[in-house]
Amino acid sequence: MEKLQVLPNTSQNPGKFTLQGTNTYLVGSSPPYILIDTGEGRDAYTPLLEAALLSSIEKEQTQNSGSAACLISDIILTHRHQDHFGGLHDILKLLRKLHDHRGVETLHYIPPRIHKYLSPSATLPSSDAYESSFESVLSSLPASSYTPAPSGTPIHDLRDAQRFRLPHTPPTASEPSTLEVVHTPGHTPDSICLLLRRADAGVAGPHVLFSADTVLGQGTAIFEDLSAYISSLQRVLAARACASADADFSAIYPGHGPVVEDGPALIETYIKHRMDREAQIVRVLSGSPPPPKEGADSGDEPAWTIWNIVAVIYKDYPENLWLPAAHGVGLHLRKLEDDGRARCLGGEGVKQRWTFISES
Ligand SMILES: [Zn+2]
Repeated sequence: MEKLQVLPNTSQNPGKFTLQGTNTYLVGSSPPYILIDTGEGRDAYTPLLEAALLSSIEKEQTQNSGSAACLISDIILTHRHQDHFGGLHDILKLLRKLHDHRGVETLHYIPPRIHKYLSPSATLPSSDAYESSFESVLSSLPASSYTPAPSGTPIHDLRDAQRFRLPHTPPTASEPSTLEVVHTPGHTPDSICLLLRRADAGVAGPHVLFSADTVLGQGTAIFEDLSAYISSLQRVLAARACASADADFSAIYPGHGPVVEDGPALIETYIKHRMDREAQIVRVLSGSPPPPKEGADSGDEPAWTIWNIVAVIYKDYPENLWLPAAHGVGLHLRKLEDDGRARCLGGEGVKQRWTFISES
């Protein structure tokens, strides 16, 4: 029995935000695999995936272990960013082609299921760019290229804690290997991580967390909602602590960048970094705000603007970094507002005015 394996491929889209490119992962010990993410649809990616699948078929034939009705049974999309789902069309086409060339024509082709966590609609602006590009990719898929959900839609909605049983569990294992969905909003509202519980963990090492864009292999992750993001990071760590060996992952396989060997330590660093920044902002916000500039509305009570806060915290940094920093400070202030520790007094952009709510 082959060991469970994770075959990573980057989707050949290097860039400022994608680092070396988007990582996609084939999970399983032999077909049918589960594929995590599809890349953004670059031409150079499909041959890499094809080579990985072809080499697995060769092994399968030498082992004479039977043939799967499709080389990939499930495609799990970790969130709504285009560099994670844009390759769907090409991959579905490739799977059909490989099936037709495998000499198993007698085996009825069962196309893969496509899964994604439903984007909470309340969080989406009406003309959400990500969602409309996702919809246009879905509408480009031939109906015969995927196995639809029972409702007839192309996407099978993921649930938190949903588990995918991986085939080919070693006969000695008491439990099957599974991939468990962990809803981790923050980077986007629909972001998930996937916890791979290995039935062969005893010989192959501890469990693995696929973190998508919630934790990156290098650099810092970006997020839309800091409160949700920190809660998600804490939840991933807490699940690990409470569930003891059951969820005791070590390595993180991120959506971008290299594998992180000590994943929990990196998550703790992420949380600490954010908490340190928050403490810095609280220190500034709880002090007296600078006097209003001449010409300011004299009716306004004195308050800190985002720009004033940035000017204090980033005073030693070049001013061209202040604007991106202001975005981060704004997200921190929203979190402090969620926590009942700050209040927005109005204003737009970097001129937004904030006040501290001291603990009584
Ligand atoms: Zn992303």
